[in-house]
Amino acid sequence: MDNRLKSLIDNLDKIKIGLDNTFKFNCTMCGKCCKNREDILLTPRDLFLLAKHLDILIGEFIKKYCEAYIGGSSRIPIIRLLPTGIDKRCPFLRGTRCSVNSVKPVVCALFPLGRCLTIDSSKNRTEFTVSDVVYINQDPHCGDNRKTHTVREWLETSNVPVKDEFFVKWNSIISQVGITVHEVEKKADDERMNRFFDLLFGLLYVAYDFKEDFLTQFDRNAKFALELTRRLKEEYDG
Ligand code: SF4
Ligand code: SF4
Repeated sequence: MDNRLKSLIDNLDKIKIGLDNTFKFNCTMCGKCCKNREDILLTPRDLFLLAKHLDILIGEFIKKYCEAYIGGSSRIPIIRLLPTGIDKRCPFLRGTRCSVNSVKPVVCALFPLGRCLTIDSSKNRTEFTVSDVVYINQDPHCGDNRKTHTVREWLETSNVPVKDEFFVKWNSIISQVGITVHEVEKKADDERMNRFFDLLFGLLYVAYDFKEDFLTQFDRNAKFALELTRRLKEEYDG
């Protein structure tokens, strides 16, 4: 577990904030948070919205702006925005402004808030519900405190659903796939795993039609991805 994640878990009770609690923050548009960033991870929904907005295919968007790799500990395909230039700026930063503001990745839209899923130990760790979502508020060391918001208001103005079904489903599927991959990788060869990862990557991130509703397509693709994962597991069971 990386140090940042460990510190977050250790301090969760101090930094978590309820939907109707308030926090003070006002973005002064300095653009600093869009530079020296190597950690802007995109979900399939982020990709769908960004590529649709820019009117290019999702595959082209990934080639042009992203890096794809298999997560070292999660063992699922991950896509991150690839920073550019000496100051490692986000490819969508223009001056000090975001050029894709209306469809920016959720991790950017939520800032300075973050969110995670917590479940009690009696529950299966791949079954989440929207009530397991926890918001966190850490000092961003930027902007000023001239405005006060509730978390709910912040989500609404940032176009992030208060009850974000996709976030819950996405975390559930990556947990389920990750658990199986950890088990199977001990037995399967690289060629088999690479074939699996290629198919999984296409299903989870790329196989979408802009003319159809995103969540409906995600549900269908996630079902195929789980079936693919189940078959992989079966091949190496016993
Ligand atoms: S997408 Fe926009 S808000 Fe997010 S890092 Fe890039 S420029 Fe900044
Ligand atoms: S969120 Fe903070 S770092 Fe980013 S532009 Fe606003 S004030 Fe600057």
